[in-house]
Amino acid sequence: MKCSRCKKLACVALPSHHAGFCPECFPLFFTRQVETAIRREKMFTHDERILVALSGGKDSLALMLELKLQGYDVTGLHIDLGIPDSSWKARKKVEDFCDANDLKLEVFEMEAWGLPICDVKQYVDRPVCAVCGKLKRHHFNRIAREGGYDALATGHNLDDEVARLFANTLRWDTPYLSDQGPVLPASDGFVRKVKPLFRLSEFETANYAFLKGIEIHSDPCPYASGASFTNHKQLWGELEHRSPGQKFQFYNGFLQRGKLAFQALEKETGATLQPCEECGSPTSVGRCSICRIKESVHRKKAAAAEG
Ligand code: SF4
Ligand code: ZN
Repeated sequence: MKCSRCKKLACVALPSHHAGFCPECFPLFFTRQVETAIRREKMFTHDERILVALSGGKDSLALMLELKLQGYDVTGLHIDLGIPDSSWKARKKVEDFCDANDLKLEVFEMEAWGLPICDVKQYVDRPVCAVCGKLKRHHFNRIAREGGYDALATGHNLDDEVARLFANTLRWDTPYLSDQGPVLPASDGFVRKVKPLFRLSEFETANYAFLKGIEIHSDPCPYASGASFTNHKQLWGELEHRSPGQKFQFYNGFLQRGKLAFQALEKETGATLQPCEECGSPTSVGRCSICRIKESVHRKKAAAAEG
């Protein structure tokens, strides 16, 4: 197969775009997709300060590098989760990557804050990933808000978005369906959230990271249990294989035609938010669920220490 741009030998075939690219031209395709996403969805401008959530995986690091190359004012934010034998490796990859590329980085330590994820796993009677995800979203938003950032960018790609949309649709989860999309505007103590990689598949992002020589953290989290999410991705992988372009059609069709209906539904039933009495984060009750989880873990831990 020949490169669709320069006619040299292609190394990446993209059936959904009826195209293929050589190692030099593929990053240009990637750049165009990110530019289109930012422009069409009005994600942010070159005058704004963007906080980029960096896990150390291929998507977040590829996003950070690409936004820097496009001249945006980006700062990385890594949350050190405090998972023994795992978190330090992810943190090191992020720190090395930011050093090597002269990128600004903030690191937030869950252990220093008083609630490492290993304590969540031990003392909270709920799936650890559900609580971990909630804690990460809480701190990303809080740090972006307190730091005066204009937007928080995450490395969610098309496969992530389609798997999430599919899961939300299977449950007809209207609050999540009304919120899902590449841009969530700022409101009620929440900063604007953007996903500039939403037009690019996991395969495309992995190729970009590889061709740019990005060293990624690829060890699975020892607490990972995302079985249904993985199943949905596999299912969509088969659909896409049989009918290239299906993923984007499904997601884009939802954004164009489905989302507004769910938003209208939620406007009638959505809860009113106010700042948490303790931490100031938006919540529908006096103290937010994060402050309550933290207190409950501290209580159980103290009781366990007393025997
Ligand atoms: Fe947190 Fe679960 Fe992800 Fe591990 S797999 S980082 S516990 S959400
Ligand atoms: Zn709180």
